[in-house]
Amino acid sequence: MPYNKDIYNTLYYKEPGPKLDKESPFESMMERFRFAAEILKLDDGLFSYLSNPVKQVTVSVPVEMDDGKLKVFEGYRVVHDNILGPSKGGLRFAPDVNIDEVKALASWMTWKCAVVNVPFGGAKGGIRCNPRDMSIRELERLTRRYTASMLDVFGPEVDIPAPDMGTNEQVMAWIMDTYSMHMRKTSNAVVTGKPIIIGGSLGRKEATGRGVVTVTLAAMNKLGISPINAKVAVQGFGNVGSVSAKLMYEQGSRVIAISDISGAYYNEKGIDIPSAMAYSQNNNFSMEGYTEADKITNEELLELDCDVLIPAAKEDQISRHNANNIKAKIISEGANGPVTANADKILDENGILVIPDILANAGGVTVSYFEWVQDRQGYFWTEERVNRRLNRMMRNAFHLIYGVMEEYNVTLRQAAYIYSIKKVAETLKLRGIYA
Ligand code: NAD
Repeated sequence: MPYNKDIYNTLYYKEPGPKLDKESPFESMMERFRFAAEILKLDDGLFSYLSNPVKQVTVSVPVEMDDGKLKVFEGYRVVHDNILGPSKGGLRFAPDVNIDEVKALASWMTWKCAVVNVPFGGAKGGIRCNPRDMSIRELERLTRRYTASMLDVFGPEVDIPAPDMGTNEQVMAWIMDTYSMHMRKTSNAVVTGKPIIIGGSLGRKEATGRGVVTVTLAAMNKLGISPINAKVAVQGFGNVGSVSAKLMYEQGSRVIAISDISGAYYNEKGIDIPSAMAYSQNNNFSMEGYTEADKITNEELLELDCDVLIPAAKEDQISRHNANNIKAKIISEGANGPVTANADKILDENGILVIPDILANAGGVTVSYFEWVQDRQGYFWTEERVNRRLNRMMRNAFHLIYGVMEEYNVTLRQAAYIYSIKKVAETLKLRGIYA
């Protein structure tokens, strides 16, 4: 199908205005969804079906706090779709989480799972609370009561939560235990991101960064850039950023800059990533005071002259304000939504290849899928097997989406949306609407 510039302009690049300064990642995602739907000439009924979640549940979660007082929290679970399989998505504990955010994140999961050919639909959950202000016992009571309220929603064949902002593997263990107690049997496939000892998967912690690097190497290969000595800048040095930096370093690349909330650290000769990781770990997970590199700002890091830029910290880092200053040849989105929809067009015009979040950081959900498969089989794989299969799925997904990009003459991001929407829409048509 030819590339339609008019559609591109009307749907993709809105009139500049004050609203664009505060572009939310969800608006960006919806804009990309609308653009792909238009290219695919999705009919109105299907568009409406795919724009709305199939299920939204809001519950009140009463918790007896340590001081004996009763507090009531609001909890949500949204299933965007379950067309490709059981729905999958994280559970977020945050003071400002709300149903609209959860709805948007649930649809994001649908497209992410479809892009990497994981047989899951998309979902997301949240509890409006501040986990930092709560004791471990309060968090346990909150999690268990929320899970009890969601017994009809969750299930290994129905809807499978995972960790997200403010939750961790301990929270997953409580969900698994509560669900199992009610089912009268151990049911570890009901959540992923669990501790290894109760059915978690080897390789899960490194999976997102590993997936980022797999697709980055595939993209470098397409552009004829050798990883040896390639200049790489990584924003964010947490789970995704540090693993991505380490694996690029192991490929022989020169990681010239890394950063975290304390600032960015630049060394043109390349940073010794294993020692930087050790520094961060011994320094309460902060690079503050690191002397093996010059201190620059996070904004300056984004604009460095490099081959690959991996934004792996947070959303909205590259917008129409700085997109024209980006010098990287490839941007690989480790974080969710680091590039706004308005920046997409500028980067595209400047010939920069952006590997979109729904592809680049889908290694996490891919190994979540492996965890679920292993739990259901009751047979656990070696880390080597997990990594090998992850690499294969990520590489295949990259080449598939790259092919769609060439076929439709669009960006890699648009191709990812086109592929995933087409896949979900075709499956829905085949299954039909049960009346
Ligand atoms: P993390 O908390 O482990 O690390 C975040 C890092 O970013 C930290 O080093 C922090 O200091 C840094 N940071 C925070 N604010 C910053 C700022 N303003 N400027 C520069 N650095 C800043 O988180 P993570 O798990 O690595 O996740 C990072 C991103 O990747 C998030 O967008 C997340 O949604 C996305 N993601 C994570 C996974 C996963 O499996 N962990 C999967 C998919 C997507």
